[in-house]
Amino acid sequence: MSQHDGDDAPLVVAVDGPAGSGKSSVSKAAAARLGFAFLDTGAAYRALTWFATRRGVDVTDSRAVIETIDDFDYHVEPASRQEAAVDVSARDGSARESTVDAPRVFVGDTDVTDAIRDPEVSARVSAVARVPEVRLRLNELFRALLAGTDREGIVAEGRDITTVVAPDAPVRILLTASPEVRAARRAGELDGQSASDVARQLHARDRADLQVVDFMTAAEGVTTVDSTDLNFDQTVDAVIDVIEAARAAMAAAPSRGGTDD
Ligand code: C5P
Repeated sequence: MSQHDGDDAPLVVAVDGPAGSGKSSVSKAAAARLGFAFLDTGAAYRALTWFATRRGVDVTDSRAVIETIDDFDYHVEPASRQEAAVDVSARDGSARESTVDAPRVFVGDTDVTDAIRDPEVSARVSAVARVPEVRLRLNELFRALLAGTDREGIVAEGRDITTVVAPDAPVRILLTASPEVRAARRAGELDGQSASDVARQLHARDRADLQVVDFMTAAEGVTTVDSTDLNFDQTVDAVIDVIEAARAAMAAAPSRGGTDD
């Protein structure tokens, strides 16, 4: 049903936002509910950071980081349909975290799904992400993954999806939340670190990332969803509402998916 027949390009849903806005988990849940594929672009930046560090590269040395890209064999094993179905049915937040298997991220044969969430990777990733050549190369990869999905649509999330990776996407969303709420959410995800440490790290990463792309201001045509006062399910609903409204508008427009083409 959600499989597309190859005649039409997949519906791309671009979601940007800062750390802790919930964009990863919300985008993943929205994709699962719609039967769409999901692309977490931050995972690729994190995996490259892990890979470069593993090779002993100083990530502040741009040239050395660039030299690792040719050997960077990145791939993702998507969550199975069964897991996606669990995601859809798990309406309760705590159940969701424990029952859904996220897609597994690999560099070569190594499963780095957990390693790329390490605070040391988080602390280094901005240095890798600010290298223009890295961004060009990863953007090529992202565009190929967007075009190559076998699903009817794909939700891609990151910092510059609405503006650089897929500026022509028919659905573009900026997911925001207040700095306090973002820090509190992230502190809840990480064990063993004080809330103030988590807040400091998160805001430092935002500051570094903002020097490269502006993911705090909605570009023209981008719909802002502010999750500050929304719980998880309400945020997913709000994102799906935006997607459904765009689909309805596209179906009504003769040039985009109308029946009398
Ligand atoms: O989304 P996440 O927090 O996992 O992203 C990790 C890092 O990857 C960000 O802090 C940012 O440096 C980088 N990133 C980026 N552009 C994207 C996605 C992530 O620069 N589209």
